[in-house]
Formats: sequence, C-alpha cells, structure tokens
Amino acid sequence: MRIRHALIAGGGIGGLATALALHRQGWTVTVVERAVSLAPVGAGIGLAPNAVRALRELGVADEVRACSASHEGMGIRHPSGRWLVFVDEEKARRRFGEPFAVLHRADLVRILADRLPPETLHLKTRVEGVETGTGERPARVSTSQGDFDADLVVAADGLRSGLRSRLFPAHPGPVHAGFTAWRIVVPAPGCGLLASETWGNSGVVGVLPMAEGRVYCYATGVMPPGKLFEDERAETLRRFGDWHAPIPDLFAAAAPETVLRNDVFHLARPLPSLHRGRVAFLGDAAHPMAPNLGQGACQAIEDAVVLAHVAGDGTDIPRRVYDYTAARLERTTAMVRRSAKVGAMVHRDSPAAVRTRWTLAAVAGRLPFGATARSLRPITGWHPPRLGGEPGTPGR
Ligand SMILES: Cc1cc2nc3c(=O)[nH]c(=O)nc-3n(C[C@H](O)[C@H](O)[C@H](O)COP(=O)(O)OP(=O)(O)OC[C@H]3O[C@@H](n4cnc5c(N)ncnc54)[C@H](O)[C@@H]3O)c2cc1C
Repeated sequence: MRIRHALIAGGGIGGLATALALHRQGWTVTVVERAVSLAPVGAGIGLAPNAVRALRELGVADEVRACSASHEGMGIRHPSGRWLVFVDEEKARRRFGEPFAVLHRADLVRILADRLPPETLHLKTRVEGVETGTGERPARVSTSQGDFDADLVVAADGLRSGLRSRLFPAHPGPVHAGFTAWRIVVPAPGCGLLASETWGNSGVVGVLPMAEGRVYCYATGVMPPGKLFEDERAETLRRFGDWHAPIPDLFAAAAPETVLRNDVFHLARPLPSLHRGRVAFLGDAAHPMAPNLGQGACQAIEDAVVLAHVAGDGTDIPRRVYDYTAARLERTTAMVRRSAKVGAMVHRDSPAAVRTRWTLAAVAGRLPFGATARSLRPITGWHPPRLGGEPGTPGR
C-alpha cells in the first residue's frame, strides 16, 4: 500500500492534533509552522468532555488529565461571590463520562508534539501558496523552504488563515465579536478547587484552578477592537478590583508584562464548505468562535479526529474531504452561533439586562442537575469516531 502524505499548515493545537490523528492512521505527516518554536502564546485552556474523549482517541487523554487539576465543582457566580449555578464535578463526570480538564496550553502542545516523529515538524517555515490538486494530481503547497506535494493539505493556520483568504476570496472573514479578553496564569496556593465564571456588568471573569497550585484566570470587557491600555493589568484591576475574592488578588499577583490581551473575533458567516479540492480547513482557520463556550480548541480537536477518520487510507481524497465537510460544518456552525449568543447575553450592560441574566442563571441553578446536563449535551455529549478502523459514522 502506498504511504499517504499530509501537509499541515500551522502547528497550533488544531494542526498538532491532526498530525497525531493522521500519524495514528498510518500517514506520513509534515507540519509547517512559521514560528521559531511551538511555545504557544497563551495561558490556560479548558477542555470539555467532548474534547477529552477525542484526545482519548489520540492516546493522550490520560497525560492531559495528569496535567490538569481535578476540580470539586464549577459554576456561575455573582460579583458579590454568591453562586448562581453550581455543578458538582463528580456528578458531571458520572454524567459525561470524562472530566472537564484545565491545563496550561504549553502542556497540551507539548503532549501532542511529543507523540510525533521528530522529522514531522518544520519550524520557521511559512506557507505561501497552494494548488488544490485534482482527483489524479496531488496538491502542492509552496512554502518559504520550498514546495511540498501532498495527498491531503490541512489548513490549520488559525484565525487569520492565509489559506482561507486564498481559497475563499469572496468570504468576508472574521469580524469583531464586540469584546476583548485578558488572560493570566498565576500561582494561587490555597485558592481552592472550585472553578467559576462570574457574570458582572458588561464582562465576565473566569477562575480555573490548574495543577501545581496555579490558577488560570480570564476576563472579558466590551470595547471596540484595537483599543490599548498602557498597563493592561491596571485596567483589569480598575474593572474587576471590587469583585469577589480571589479575583482582585489574582490580577494583582500577575506581572504586568504577562497579562495577555486579545480582541475577540469570530466567523459570523460560515464558510460554504470546509474543503477545496484536496485542502481541508479546521480549527480557527475554519470556524473561529468567541470563547464564551470554551469550545474553539475543543472543536479543533474534534475536527482532527474526524478528518483523520474520513481520510482513512487516503484513496479518493477529494470525495473524503467532502465527507469531512458533511460531518463537521453543521456542528461547528452551531457552536459559533451558540458562542456568539452567549457572548451577546453576558456582555449586554443595561441594568435590566444585567438583572435578567442573574435571575435566569439563578433559576437555572435551582433546576435539577439533569436539566443542566441536558442543556450541555449537544456540546459535551459528542463522541469521536474510532481511528484505525473502517470509515463509519464520523462522530456523533
Ligand atoms: C481569550 C480566549 C480564550 C480561549 N479559551 C478557550 C478554552 O478555554 N477552550 C477552548 O477549547 N478554546 C479556547 N479558545 C479558543 C482556542 O484558543 C482556539 O480555538 C484554538 O487555539 C485554535 O487552534 P488552531 O490550531 O486552529 O489555531 P492557532 O492556535 O491560531 O494555530 C495556528 C498556527 O498556524 C500558524 N500559521 C499561521 N499562518 C501560517 C503560515 N502562513 N505558515 C505557517 N504557519 C502559519 C500560526 O503561527 C499558529 O501556530 C480561546 C480563545 C481565546 C481568544
């Protein structure tokens, strides 16, 4: 049997997960990454049970769990500290079969990259163009280090995907979601093991305990894109300094230069398909979404397993990438829309809107756990297809 070759543009979480998935399917994989190293800019990352299940299919779920703190529970809080919704982690784990994992992005990237043959990764290499290939002819990717022929090209080049603009030139691309996000990771021994998101006026703050006594903390605020502050940490303290403990202390503990700030963009209009010729799009290149569901990377990992599953032994790739679009476009579009809806809801800042969302959250918090679990099921209940088997149902 001829060994199939996949060229992956981008060595983020989506590209690396796909490389591992295809490698496990017996493909030869080349990952082309423009950065000088894989050390990701980023803080922590939350992975929901759907992604942890997909990581299990990649053979790395236990390692990921070993790098995560085990939480006692999670929920939504009022800025005073009152819990509006609280879900016991043990109950959630029993219901979903896998935990919610929170770890440092650098750990996730390392775990994925370490499982790849060393020759897979080409750093300091920029993708510059692509010929999408035909049924008979492979695709050709031109890079700053020369051309590569490939049976399958994976566009995993992120939010500002150059491959997306090239192959979907009429598409308007990502638009600003209306808010910005700050992220920090700080040591916080004794902070407890309760994960929370606090809903205030026109912004939220998430507190997610990580392994080794650290805490990943994120915050959002409504503002136009491009607005910068001389001192981003001071801005977080101005906005969230009177919220419940430990929020002010966490932001105060961050060194100012470590506070990450990103304006949030999403793909308001979905791509018409997730492929062109032999090129398949995934992760933020395909469907960037606001982080309000914490599903951007989770969906990229789902994409990776599904794409490797449908790619199978690599025969008839132009048809198989069509199957990939059929399996993924509807789900990822729904996720982008649901994230946008939640984003709009938590960032509406009229006093009436703020009171309404606190009331709705408190009502949801009084419902039996089964009702909360049912509302999360479309997101967390997803099961990956098996790798290494015959093509079958590509995820459900
Ligand atoms: C504030 C915030 C919080 C978030 N929190 C979560 C969370 O808790 N859980 C979750 O699941 N998701 C979360 N997300 C979303 C998640 O970060 C992204 O969806 C995910 O990282 C996308 O991964 P990716 O591999 O598709 O893209 P990226 O991580 O952007 O990787 C793309 C890679 O391609 C490379 N590249 C680009 N162009 C080229 C080129 N021409 N040649 C070669 N290489 C190229 C880039 O250097 C980069 O390494 C969050 C996002 C934000 C903004």
